[in-house]
Order: sequence, then structure tokens, then C-alpha cells
Amino acid sequence: MLTDLNFEEIKEYVKKIGLPAFRGEQIFDAIYSGKELQEISNLPQALKDIISADYPQYKIIQCLESKEDGTRKYIVQFADNNIVECVLMKYKYGYTLCVSTQVGCRMGCKFCASTLHGLARNLSAGEILGQVLLVNKALGGSRKNRMITNIVMMGSGEPLDNFDNVVKFIDLVSTGKGLNISQRNISLSTCGLVPQIYKLMEKDYNITLTISLHATTDEKRAEIMPIANAYKISEIIKACKDYYEKTNRRIYFEYTLIKGKNDSEEDVKRLAKLLKGFNCHINVIPLNSVKERELEGTTRLFAYKFVDKLKACGLSATVRRTMGEDIEGACGQLRNKILRLKSN
Ligand code: SAH
Repeated sequence: MLTDLNFEEIKEYVKKIGLPAFRGEQIFDAIYSGKELQEISNLPQALKDIISADYPQYKIIQCLESKEDGTRKYIVQFADNNIVECVLMKYKYGYTLCVSTQVGCRMGCKFCASTLHGLARNLSAGEILGQVLLVNKALGGSRKNRMITNIVMMGSGEPLDNFDNVVKFIDLVSTGKGLNISQRNISLSTCGLVPQIYKLMEKDYNITLTISLHATTDEKRAEIMPIANAYKISEIIKACKDYYEKTNRRIYFEYTLIKGKNDSEEDVKRLAKLLKGFNCHINVIPLNSVKERELEGTTRLFAYKFVDKLKACGLSATVRRTMGEDIEGACGQLRNKILRLKSN
């Protein structure tokens, strides 16, 4: 698919099929403006026929908007009919898009809807990028008129479990010739695949690394996150410290509060012990309950109190805004709902 190629590679592609170089510019511009093939006005039909098999076939098939906060959830469908969701959030400084990196997920976190149907397949770099291009267009943007300023890889999937495609996506989306989204405005969230964190470090990116921690002991973490059987919290934090040394980028930790599981005074103390003195920030968010799972979130008021306790221990922490709760906002929830409706 052409969206997997960078500008140089698209130029090679048009050269190979015997077209003049300016056609490469036109095709590149159309792809990065999120256009469907029929919408490109400056290409002759004969040429469209030649490239149609390689031209991206993805499209937005549904959009839900939250009445509470204007957050929008888009369902994107790919050529093989697989669907993923991405979430658009409006902030003071612009739009942030939360993209999916896999169809489903195989990490098996107990509280997460993305994992309910396992992993269907990885997304290619172009399919991750496609989510950005389509939503940018839906906002009235194009390649030259970029509406999306920030990207977080916090949709369905474990980005570091799809490493090669994810780094290619980061390259494509941050290059000056494309949408030119600054790497400083890109976050990658992981459940903590330690060897891949080191591999990512070698890329010398300026992106923000976010760790889904969610527990303060390895035993408790393993109860909700199977990946904890492979890597210890201490190994993850060591990798984060090395990442910080190398990149000077502050690390973020996600801590989802689950009633009776990870919300005790002891947890506050252990978190403080684990992270004290490290230049990092903790995002606390009450669990967004998933129908199929028995876990329950805390109230927002409880989350604020939890954060106050962390602050009293000298940590930097905030309660994360929950957005789009009325539109199945959390990871994989909407795709799951659609699959559920289909199977009924
Ligand atoms: N696999 C990656 C990225 C996807 S999940 C990761 O684990 O970080 C993005 C974030 O949403 C993670 O912190 C995840 O733990 C959290 N999350 C998933 N389901 C949730 C739910 N039901 N309520 C609150 N947060 C959830």
C-alpha cells in the first residue's frame, strides 16, 4: 500500500511504472491529504486505474461525538474489513489523536476491552498513519493544512509488540515532507516490554514514553497484567531511567485505579518508594469498567485524594481527564461493542 512508503519511495514507485516525477508529488500530496482515489482531481483516470491496487482503501465508517466534552471516536475500516478505533480530543493547543497500533491485542490485561478478542493482526505503518490522515481530513485539513498537532499511541494494541511498523509510522508522521508532526508531540504507551524499550532507545527519537504500570508489586501486577510474569517492575523502571538518561525525555506512568486492587495506602507508599527522585509524572485515572470484566473503578473524588497522597510523598501526579465516557471512550470499547452487536 502506498501509505507505507515515504516520499522518496513514492518517487521510486512512479519512476518504476514509467511516470514523470511530478506525479509522485501529486500522489504523495493526495495520500497525505487523506483523499480517496476518486477525489483526486489532478490525475487522469488511466493513471488512477494503474495505481488503484496500491492506493489506500481505508475509510472512516462511523463517528461518534461525546455530548459531554466533544471528544470524537472514529471507526476506521481497512481493505480486509478489519476495523479499529481512534479517538480525537480537543485541547487548548489543538487536536490530539489517539491511534490504534494493532487490530485487537494479545497482552491480555484484565481490565482492557482491546484484548477481549485477542490479536487479529498487526497494523502496517501506513494503516496507523491512515488513521491520522483520515481524521485530519475529516477536520477539514490536508497535507499543507495540518489540524492534528499531537499523537498518542494509546488506542488498541501494544505498540512495542508491533515494533517495526510502529517505528516506521513515527518516521512517516514526523517527517517534514509529510504531516510534520513534531516527535515531541508524540507519545508511545506500553505495558512494559523491556527489550523493546531498549530497542526504541536506539532510535534516538524525541518521543514521550508512557508506561502502563497499574500496580506496585509484581504479584499484584500479574493478577491484572500477564506481561508482569515476563518483566519485573524493577526492570521496567531501570529501563525508564536508562531511557531518560539517553533522551532527556520525562517518563509518564499511567496508573488506572481499580477498586480494592491497587488503591490502598500501601500502594501509595510503594509507588513513592519506586519512583521517588526520578523525573517522571504519574497520570491517575479511575478504571472505565468493561462490561465483560468484573473489575470496578474508583470514584473521581477518590482519584483526587489518591493523587494528593502521592503529591504529599513528593511525586508529580495528576488525575487524567476522562474523556468520551458516553461514547465507549476507553481502549477497544467501541470496537468491542460493534463486534458484540454483529455476533448477536
Ligand atoms: N498497550 C499499550 C497502549 C494501549 S492502552 C499500553 O498498555 O500502554 C492505553 C492505556 O489505557 C493504558 O494505560 C491502559 O492500561 C489503559 N486502559 C485500558 N483499558 C482501560 C479501562 N477500561 N479503563 C481505564 N484505562 C484503561
